[in-house]
Amino acid sequence: MTRRKLVAGNWKMNGSRAGLAELDGIAAAAASAPGVDVAVAVPFTLIAPAATRVPALQIGAEDVHEADSGAHTGCVSAAMVAEAGARFAIVGHSERRADQGETSHDAWAKAAAARRQGLHVISCCGETEAERDADRAERVVQAQIEKSVPDNADGSWFTLAYEPRWAIGTGRTPTLEQIAAIHSIARAKLRMLIGDAADGVRILYGGSVTGDNAETILACENVDGALVGGASITAAKFVPIIEAAA
Ligand code: PGA
Repeated sequence: MTRRKLVAGNWKMNGSRAGLAELDGIAAAAASAPGVDVAVAVPFTLIAPAATRVPALQIGAEDVHEADSGAHTGCVSAAMVAEAGARFAIVGHSERRADQGETSHDAWAKAAAARRQGLHVISCCGETEAERDADRAERVVQAQIEKSVPDNADGSWFTLAYEPRWAIGTGRTPTLEQIAAIHSIARAKLRMLIGDAADGVRILYGGSVTGDNAETILACENVDGALVGGASITAAKFVPIIEAAA
């Protein structure tokens, strides 16, 4: 099955209203690559101005709360980000697992909450360096997928992102063989959980993707796009990754 490539940016706790000017160049590159889906997750406060500035680009949230509303001081619901103009949400990012103690079960609940509001979901998984060194990467990723992927997931609203934690923001990436191996076991695990719908689910690679390595990573079997942090904040760095996917 052919799956359209998705190149998604994740600005994390970076950016500003002035910095939204970067989205103009990113939107132009997206328009020149009609075969590629391009999306950018931005901090909550930038969702509305970003969505207004570049309506053709898919703007998303970096997280949502698992509840629809209620007494959760400081949290933001899927309905709120959707109303602000978000079209997707990232859930289960390793920085939220590390900083906020989120679990794969939380990622599952957040994916369900985002789905209830009609948002597309990018759900993250990935092993730590210690787990990779102990030869446990495959088992860890399989367990994360089992606990986080909703039963009704399909490619129309759900995307998986494999992001080895030790590769995030470090400039280090797994070998192409390691990436292909995890993506293959991730696809097999999805098939066990959701059957044939697994063939339509895109699996992104994330962790130190740049304009220099994007082309070879995106050429790996079962790699259907990239989730890009540091290199997504400026058009100069992000556009070459979009072009590599085209
Ligand atoms: P990085 O981050 O591209 O800066 O490594 C990727 C991510 O955390 O999604």
